[in-house]
Amino acid sequence: MRFVIEGGHGPDTPGKRTPDGSMREFHFNSAVARYVRDGLMQYEGVEVLFTHADDRDVPLKERTDKANAWKADAFVSIHANAFGNNWNEANGIETFVYTTRPAAAVKLAEAVQRALIRATGRRDRGVKAGDLHVLRETKMTAILIECGFMTNREEAELLKSDEYRRKCAATIVQAIAEVYGLKKAGSATTGTPIAGQSQATVEQAQEWARQKKATQAFIDLASVYWRVGAELGIRPEIGYTQAAKETGFGRFGGVVSRDFHNWCGLKTTKGGSNTDPLAHARFLNDEEGVRAHLQHLALYAGVEVKGEIVDPRHFPSVRGTAKTVESLGGKWAPAADYGKAITELLAGLLTTKVSTPPVDKSVEKVNIQINGIRIPAQGDLRNGVSVLPVGAVSEALGVTLEWVPETKQVRVNGKDLTATIEAGVAYAPARELAAALDLQVEWDGPTKTVLLKNQCVCINKKTGYRRDEKT
Ligand SMILES: [Zn+2]
Repeated sequence: MRFVIEGGHGPDTPGKRTPDGSMREFHFNSAVARYVRDGLMQYEGVEVLFTHADDRDVPLKERTDKANAWKADAFVSIHANAFGNNWNEANGIETFVYTTRPAAAVKLAEAVQRALIRATGRRDRGVKAGDLHVLRETKMTAILIECGFMTNREEAELLKSDEYRRKCAATIVQAIAEVYGLKKAGSATTGTPIAGQSQATVEQAQEWARQKKATQAFIDLASVYWRVGAELGIRPEIGYTQAAKETGFGRFGGVVSRDFHNWCGLKTTKGGSNTDPLAHARFLNDEEGVRAHLQHLALYAGVEVKGEIVDPRHFPSVRGTAKTVESLGGKWAPAADYGKAITELLAGLLTTKVSTPPVDKSVEKVNIQINGIRIPAQGDLRNGVSVLPVGAVSEALGVTLEWVPETKQVRVNGKDLTATIEAGVAYAPARELAAALDLQVEWDGPTKTVLLKNQCVCINKKTGYRRDEKT
């Protein structure tokens, strides 16, 4: 939804001030316009354009041409009223629509007028029709609000106060939001937060990119996003999916080419047209481009960036205005569903499965318990099979280990074991060793312990290892 919010007149427009010169109308108009813009930007899919300027009185034709070219949905002009040039009793609030009284404009004007009267308690002068340039020459719904009389002492004091300006602005915003059914942009509790820890791995991101036939450069870029994202406290997968959308998975093809190292279509500080390559930022390398991108996301998310700012558009006015991916729509990019498009990509990335190669578990140690007592020696878990040091286990049980050099065979209780020798220590699979020793064998996963138990109650006099009576 596109709204032109206009502060009427300019800073030096003749007349257009309180009789005592203590306030110029533009100061009220532009302040309220700014508050209205800030208020509207809290809603989903809203764009706001100013047609006034702080340094000149923009001619009326220029204002309406600009609004028409931008194809605004509504035009809201903000003014303070005057009756003559001297102090007098005229007072109250009124809102204008064009003389033909277009239904949509009347609806908006009535909502704004009613809300302002309720909020301020000023006199209701009603919705009026007027042949005013900005109402006549605009092609969209247009209203002009007169928020009180500069020529009335009481209202002049109100118009000068920041409190009254904010009150008018908040009321206008609320009325606009109601008429157009605007929804508050997602707070941190609804929607997909931009700030935070990554919820996907680099490998997942790369696999996702691969499946999407991304360029190799784009696939390689994942690790940069993940590293810088962790540093800034911004979820890298959001930057990465946005980069996928902006560059067509690294294929570029728009006005920004690969050599810009600009993965999110960031413009220069000066900005300019979407179709002008010179309006887009160039970065030294991908690292800097990614950093600028994630810094810009941090800005929207309201996350303070420490260290050097390489984002050319790190404007304070944007800070914290889009804390969720969904709310980027209408802010980062004009399309209201821009955020939704990214969340769809994100859902794909987050659900991408990575085929994990079998993990080499040879280094994993397992504990050994014999009849409830843990022995100092440890075994290994090799490809899911526990192997135990034959000598240590045999010794704990008072059993002699035999070594047959001819066959390089380890033998216990007269039974040959398929043992492997490592650093002079013979290891045999736990089950095989247990069978040779006539022990039961169990595996306790949580403590990674091989439990060896005697089949009968018997005590080894030499070591004292015995069956625990309670088990
Ligand atoms: Zn005015």
